[in-house]
Amino acid sequence: MNLTSMPKVELHLHLEGSARLSTFREALHRHAGMDLPETPQWLEPDFRFGSFEEFRQLFRDYLTPWLSAPTGYGELIQDVVDLLISQNIRYAEVNFCPNVFKRVDAHPPDVLDLLHEGASRAAWEGTVVKWIAGLNREEGLEETAGWIKKLLPESIVAGFDLHGNEPGWSSAMFTEALAPVLDAGKKLKIHAGETVGPESIRAAVEVVGATQIGHGVTAVEDPAVVDLLRERGTVVEMCPTSNERLRNVPSYADHPILELESRGVTVTVNSDDSLFVGSTLTDEMCRLRVERGAMVDDLIRWTRNGLEVAILEEAERENILSDLQQWKDEARTWRI
Ligand SMILES: [Zn+2]
Repeated sequence: MNLTSMPKVELHLHLEGSARLSTFREALHRHAGMDLPETPQWLEPDFRFGSFEEFRQLFRDYLTPWLSAPTGYGELIQDVVDLLISQNIRYAEVNFCPNVFKRVDAHPPDVLDLLHEGASRAAWEGTVVKWIAGLNREEGLEETAGWIKKLLPESIVAGFDLHGNEPGWSSAMFTEALAPVLDAGKKLKIHAGETVGPESIRAAVEVVGATQIGHGVTAVEDPAVVDLLRERGTVVEMCPTSNERLRNVPSYADHPILELESRGVTVTVNSDDSLFVGSTLTDEMCRLRVERGAMVDDLIRWTRNGLEVAILEEAERENILSDLQQWKDEARTWRI
């Protein structure tokens, strides 16, 4: 069946990890004289990262040389926008990481202008892109608070996210720094329960007040945290292939997306870093169908879950819902 044409929603995608391989390969060759092998090691089918640090090293090795080039950010933003459009993703929340700016010597206002241009071009093609400033918790409280202060007034920044390796960096430490985000009525999301247990999810929801949780895989370990997510209606942005590749779950078959949903949690499907985990949103949906028995109705429900929390005018939301329904009606005739 043609899942490419299905109107989709992506709530969890990192700009820096989501270029298409062909663009990435060409840019690295042109800017840094680096030649990638036909299949980079991290894209081998059975490849698994040994650690979160090994995963992050890919960004330092490959994104830094690209984004350090004067045209780097523009090329990357354009390519990720094209990736969204090519999959008929109609609404996307895309993380960009301000912590990278200094490392690649980028002038923040220039990058914000490029994000503006990218969103305008996407809108022209019928895709709404909301940029989320994704801050690395491991950069510490002062750096995080500083970026929030600088970026909160920017209209192109629709919200904030806290990511990075969780051990030793509970989101609760950032409660005060993140509070202005909620006060300003912008979206607050937190990566939690990816590399540590469910207590991280509890802190992000109960203490900090996040309304969307990135990953949240370890919620299944604590029934009280599952209850908390269900009662609050917190949306969990699940990224099964990413979790498999980073060994956050024993295997794809063990990913808790179906179990969490059966226990009343609102889940969505996402790709995280499509270049480095080797799976786009369309790929992920195909995999869930083939390997986990997901039905078209499941894919549609997960998409609707994302639309519920999308930053959209009601008319825009209704428009996408109506296109989704139309796609479903047509899909019925394909004998799937
Ligand atoms: Zn992420």
